[in-house]
Amino acid sequence: MTTNAEAPGAQPVPALFFAKVERRYAQGAGALEILRQADLAIWPGELVALVAPSGAGKSTLLHLAGLLERPDGGEIYIGGTPTAGMADGERTRLRREEMGFVYQFHHLLPEFSALENVVMPQLIRGLSNREARARATELLGFLGLKERLVHRPAELSGGEQQRVAIARAVANGPRLLLADEPTGNLDPHTAAHVFGILVALVRASGLAALIATHNMDLAARMDRRVTIRDGLIEQLP
Ligand code: ADP
Repeated sequence: MTTNAEAPGAQPVPALFFAKVERRYAQGAGALEILRQADLAIWPGELVALVAPSGAGKSTLLHLAGLLERPDGGEIYIGGTPTAGMADGERTRLRREEMGFVYQFHHLLPEFSALENVVMPQLIRGLSNREARARATELLGFLGLKERLVHRPAELSGGEQQRVAIARAVANGPRLLLADEPTGNLDPHTAAHVFGILVALVRASGLAALIATHNMDLAARMDRRVTIRDGLIEQLP
């Protein structure tokens, strides 16, 4: 499986690093401060839960990490590369090459098979059809979907759909996986199963994952838990 492990002897760098990140939204005459000098480091191979009440800023944090929004202050490093001053095109390239996204709803392309949904981002990245199909087959097999390659999303269960969405997110070997309630739409049993497979994938590939969830059982199974409190990112026990 493709990994983003550093060369032997190289200094490890965080997959994601927030340094004194600020983000505020205009609110009437004032400002709504979401992040104030917030710091966060997520290391390769680490699975971190983002747990906070609704409205605390989880989506904002994920959008900042995914380079979909810019901070109002501070710096965000992706694999050691500072991004705040980057041009939009460069941010898009970094997002496409270094990150995978999983959402609560799978957003798979309905007309295409599971395999094709995982092949597509690799073709966009420039891989040959043969390479992309080989990688997609390996990934879907790892996620327990060897018998579902030619099924379309509507022919898959919710848990299977979400596993295809995970395979698609990591198809290009990202450094960082960002997920917003990835199992929030599944029943508890299926959620636990899909989450277990996600953990195995993170462990096998060495990528780093930041996963927003309301599910405390799943949060407890991650390496660390962080929350947003008073504009800071704090560690939870
Ligand atoms: P969460 O994901 O934890 O529910 P969000 O990051 O979506 O929280 O939102 C944090 C706060 O910022 C909320 O009060 C929300 O209303 C506000 N907010 C989010 N996006 C915007 C925006 N584009 N403009 C103004 N306020 C926003």
